[in-house]
Amino acid sequence: MKRKVVFAIIFLVLLPAGLSACYREILSAQDEHLAAGMASVPVLHTDYETGEYPEYEPNKYEPYAYEPYIPYIYEPYPQEYEPEYYTYEEPVRRPMVALTFDDGPSKYTNYILDVLEAHGARATFCVLGSRVENWADVILRIDYLGSEVVGHSWNHRNFTRINEDEIKRQILETSAVIEEILGFPPPPIVRAPYGALNARARRVTRELGYSFLNWSLDTEDWRHRDAQHLYNFIMERAIDGSIILMHDIRQPTADAMEYVVPSLIERGFQLVTATELIEYFEGELKPGVEYRGIR
Ligand code: ZN
Repeated sequence: MKRKVVFAIIFLVLLPAGLSACYREILSAQDEHLAAGMASVPVLHTDYETGEYPEYEPNKYEPYAYEPYIPYIYEPYPQEYEPEYYTYEEPVRRPMVALTFDDGPSKYTNYILDVLEAHGARATFCVLGSRVENWADVILRIDYLGSEVVGHSWNHRNFTRINEDEIKRQILETSAVIEEILGFPPPPIVRAPYGALNARARRVTRELGYSFLNWSLDTEDWRHRDAQHLYNFIMERAIDGSIILMHDIRQPTADAMEYVVPSLIERGFQLVTATELIEYFEGELKPGVEYRGIR
């Protein structure tokens, strides 16, 4: 134990002495190195006391030619100037149309969304609950683009041919699966398969707090399956307040949208969601009411 203490003391005394010896060695090596370097540098001898400087060599460098400074002359401020924001114009309401697409999502839905996105337009997609989970990315994109997802039953059962519990299941489970994807429920409005309703279906749906999304223009695109026919049908009949029924499970319908959407906009229509249109014309959604748009 004692020996260890003695070694420690010797170590603590000798260490600073050794370090300072090393440091002195480094400094003298640096001096030698500097002296060797300086030997090759030519020395300009200047006698500060007599003021004898090396001779100045004029015109050794081309002098830099500066651009002459030209001051900017500002136009005089016109006295009659009136900024635009002093004049207020009443906003003009543009006529509106709601495009609605049933029975999807499908592989054609994204194509329709491309067209809507390109023209800053919105639409309503009435989806089947049974298809929602397989097309979750499409459901999210519909919402992301400002369009609307609405329930169209779980698997397209005719509400007049099923019992009360089955009607409730068809509506509520579809809303639940949409909410699972979006994080919020769809608006409390349902598009009944085939638009088929009887007194019982109306009562059950009203009790659930839902209203019905019908239409003013049935394009019958599922029957014609012809883009040109669909285009003509819509362009001949669309009016302010139209709710237009189509299906996003057929290619001709998707193809027609490439022409329908810009043509409607060119004609002055704004393309809105069905609930936006209903709320504008008829106020807040009321349970049990069938909304058909303006005819
Ligand atoms: Zn349908």
